[in-house]
Amino acid sequence: MAKRGIARGKDFDVIIVGGGPGGLAVGAMLAKEGVKTAIIEKDPVVGGRYRSIDFHGCRVDSAVHFLVTLFGSPGKSYTYKLFTHLGLPLEYKLVQWPIALVSKETPGQLSTFAMDLKLGVDNFYQFFAFATGMQMDDSVKKELMKLATITSDMSEDECRQVTNVCFADWIEKNIEDPMAKAVLYGMEPVVGAPIKDMSFGFIANAWSAFPRVGGVVTYYPKRGTLEDAIIAPLAEYITNHGGKIITHATARSILVEEGKVTGVAVHDDHMRFMLEEYSAPVVVCAMPIFEAVAQHILGSELLTDDWLESIRLIGSRAVHDLSGFYLLRKDVLPRKGHGWIHIFDVDYGLPTYVGDWCLGSFINATEPKGKQLVCSYISGSSELSHFGLTAPMGKVRQANKMFKDAMEKAFPGFNKAIEYEGLNVQLSHGRYAYGPVPVEVNIQSPNIQGLYFGGDSVWNVGQPASEKVFQIAFPLCERIVKHLHFLKQLDDISRGTQIKKQATGIAKEKGGKHAQASKGKPVKRRGKR
Ligand SMILES: Cc1cc2nc3c(=O)[nH]c(=O)nc-3n(C[C@H](O)[C@H](O)[C@H](O)COP(=O)(O)OP(=O)(O)OC[C@H]3O[C@@H](n4cnc5c(N)ncnc54)[C@H](O)[C@@H]3O)c2cc1C
Repeated sequence: MAKRGIARGKDFDVIIVGGGPGGLAVGAMLAKEGVKTAIIEKDPVVGGRYRSIDFHGCRVDSAVHFLVTLFGSPGKSYTYKLFTHLGLPLEYKLVQWPIALVSKETPGQLSTFAMDLKLGVDNFYQFFAFATGMQMDDSVKKELMKLATITSDMSEDECRQVTNVCFADWIEKNIEDPMAKAVLYGMEPVVGAPIKDMSFGFIANAWSAFPRVGGVVTYYPKRGTLEDAIIAPLAEYITNHGGKIITHATARSILVEEGKVTGVAVHDDHMRFMLEEYSAPVVVCAMPIFEAVAQHILGSELLTDDWLESIRLIGSRAVHDLSGFYLLRKDVLPRKGHGWIHIFDVDYGLPTYVGDWCLGSFINATEPKGKQLVCSYISGSSELSHFGLTAPMGKVRQANKMFKDAMEKAFPGFNKAIEYEGLNVQLSHGRYAYGPVPVEVNIQSPNIQGLYFGGDSVWNVGQPASEKVFQIAFPLCERIVKHLHFLKQLDDISRGTQIKKQATGIAKEKGGKHAQASKGKPVKRRGKR
């Protein structure tokens, strides 16, 4: 509600801060339940890191993605489950995810290894033996089996309980063989973060997919980019079901009074310097939680000390990732047989992870006729790129050069064929939310009533990458609906009490006024009871 001379706010049941896939997923579920929901998005359009860009005649994902599930089939993923729940279509195609080795000696040839789900745990060992070039004898496999044995039966909840154990410490304590240790450290490029920043709970949850269903399954929508296939239908669903999407609106602070959420102060970028307050009994923070703290959107007094410590750790691990776009004058890469390639350059000594690439056509980008769009993904945390939080340009260019050198070795003529080249550096906070922390940052505030958290910066354990935001949407929606129901009941009770009080007041008053006239006669009750 309007306060301190600030423009008058509007009322909602729920305000969601952030219109990325996380905010839209829970927004759509709440809209389905008939909850009066508003999404506040600072950018001109929704989509967050799922947005598309226009690049020299190509329309392509701004941050290159594939979708991931640990359930062995995209049909069992939370992304699919959400779309089914909303009655929206989501057709998909499987993405192969092979490791490719490149070297100067064999130009034009990529030796690749792809995961094979039928192999179960062995799938993982073979994948890394190929990537690292290490021969694994039985004693190494036996050592590694310790991890498989421990994790195979662990439920997600059990994994959650060991989220504070650092995986690097676990390796030091439990794995003796140096080769076995090296193989586990070889997981860094696949996970996309240093092993010392990984929690055992997260690794256990991801590993359990190998004995359970044979490994990680990667897929992509069959038609359109992520913005077309995921973001646009969710946004349309929300507005068609009475929800409101407010763009150009930057949340400045989440408002709390006496331990309860009251709304959000929002800076309207259309009306410069206009600060508005939107009131609601429930607020979902669906933007990176460490950014919300750093920007004082979420005052530190609203968080407990252990949550603050966890959020500080999550923020310190966040780095930028690099997406590259290369429009080639002609076809240089084979169009068939490749999905998403993890590329390792063997000329650095041990095979060294350089980055990933896929063809634009694979991720449904539109390409000008006769040209080929190649997209790269380079993890900001990989040893050689290591952009850190500030993503200095020198590092970005160095990483891009390494990638192009590797591509040139694998596909001679790659560099010469580049007509346009573009780089996009984006903060990838999701991956770093699963490092060891004192307590897991959960979807509901431990001390403020009506404050919830969505997006991929909460939960250390769960489904990988953006799949986590669709997973979170389910319990989040359930809890919010329950909470609103509870508030309504309280409201009904207090209104009932007020009516009763009023009625008693009227009766007393009447009794007083007409005491004489009604003496001896019962006073008639009025109104609804
Ligand atoms: C380069 C890159 C590659 C990736 N690859 C993959 C992949 O292959 N597979 C995969 O599953 N995931 C991948 N991810 C991760 C995936 O993009 C995220 O998991 C997903 O986007 C998280 O959704 P979200 O809604 O939590 O956050 P976001 O997508 O970041 O959305 C947050 C939204 O909040 C808005 N916002 C921020 N501050 C405010 C404010 N103050 N007021 C109002 N709005 C605000 C932002 O503008 C944004 O729209 C990748 C990420 C990057 C950067």
